Amino acid sequence: MKTFAHVNAGSVDEVTNLLAQNQGKAKINAGGTDLLGVLKHRILPEYPEMLINIKKITGLNIIEADEEWIRIGALTTLVEIVKSPLIEKTCSLLKEAARSVASPQIRNIATIGGNLCQDTRCWYYRYPDEIGGMIKCFRKGGKTCPAVAGENQYHAIMGAKKCFAVCPSDMAVALTALGAVCTLAGVKGVRTIAVEELYTPLGNVLSPDEMITAIHIPKPAPDAKQTFFKFTLRKPIDFAIVSAASIITIDKGICTDVRIVLGAVAPTPVRALKAEEFLKGKALSEEIADQAALLAMDGAKPLAKNAYKLEIAKTLVKRVVKDSVVTVNSLNDPV
Ligand SMILES: Cc1cc2nc3c(=O)[nH]c(=O)nc-3n(C[C@H](O)[C@H](O)[C@H](O)COP(=O)(O)OP(=O)(O)OC[C@H]3O[C@@H](n4cnc5c(N)ncnc54)[C@H](O)[C@@H]3O)c2cc1C
Ligand code: SF4
Repeated sequence: MKTFAHVNAGSVDEVTNLLAQNQGKAKINAGGTDLLGVLKHRILPEYPEMLINIKKITGLNIIEADEEWIRIGALTTLVEIVKSPLIEKTCSLLKEAARSVASPQIRNIATIGGNLCQDTRCWYYRYPDEIGGMIKCFRKGGKTCPAVAGENQYHAIMGAKKCFAVCPSDMAVALTALGAVCTLAGVKGVRTIAVEELYTPLGNVLSPDEMITAIHIPKPAPDAKQTFFKFTLRKPIDFAIVSAASIITIDKGICTDVRIVLGAVAPTPVRALKAEEFLKGKALSEEIADQAALLAMDGAKPLAKNAYKLEIAKTLVKRVVKDSVVTVNSLNDPV
């Protein structure tokens, strides 16, 4: 690994000032479970000159609630989310999503802020420099995407134009279903943005001087049924092939409110808007679930090797509509 300066930041202001002063050459280090691998394998075109350790900043590791919102600090670890009685009671789908991430060892140190900002897992992008040289694709400022004509079995089936890598964050899928927003702090002040709008085709909307400080979730209706399903090839320690999160309110047998989000099908989490619209005002049944699943695939254009993901995505949408109650979820068995 190349040498770099290491700074223990004591406040959010110190982080944003250091990020601004270093003009893109400093990187935030939270749990380090993603960042250190990225640096070790030298997959980035430019190596950071400074790492800013944010773990010593106080006040960023909290889970609390008021009447309307649940607030999770950016340094809260995934295991803290899994074990929180407040999250279990109010946002069980977030708990399920956190529980499905990686392994207990990683969940012990991985933070929610780092999970949202983790780098893509595309295997061309992650190709280590030491075995054949870094691949400079669109996402690294290059002019091609080798995945389009190459090994694209795990890539996007919808919503991609240049880069077909999928958003790897399970927390982003769950938080999008919950309608969460995050607070971004920068040298010019603080702004909030919906998690749904956090990602761009080649990364995220954070300016080079910004960091996530907290995530705010509007308190879900107590009777809303929450579900998170994740299909993986291996049970322990694997990223989603496809995931689906939903929050569905049913009143007197009729669906009155619904959000369904698909993960690992596109460079961003994808709201199944047409399916949501279709479900509102209907009594949920097998046939309705089938039709919603088809509508959720609207606009999908699989690549040569990943059409199988369509069938998995349809099945998961069907399941979240049918089983929109959080029960024991065999797809999400803990490690
Ligand atoms: C073996 C393995 C399996 C995994 N499986 C899954 C999985 O199934 N599902 C899943 O969702 N993830 C998975 N992951 C990814 C894992 O969840 C992330 O590595 C972890 O959540 C990142 O958190 P961290 O605190 O360690 O971030 P770091 O590694 O410290 O940071 C990651 C990135 O985010 C930036 N960053 C960190 N905090 C902030 C902040 N507050 N504001 C702005 N930028 C920030 C850093 O600069 C860096 O670019 C897996 C990882 C491994 C190694
Ligand atoms: S899918 Fe994206 S990250 Fe992967 S090779 Fe293509 S441009 Fe690069």
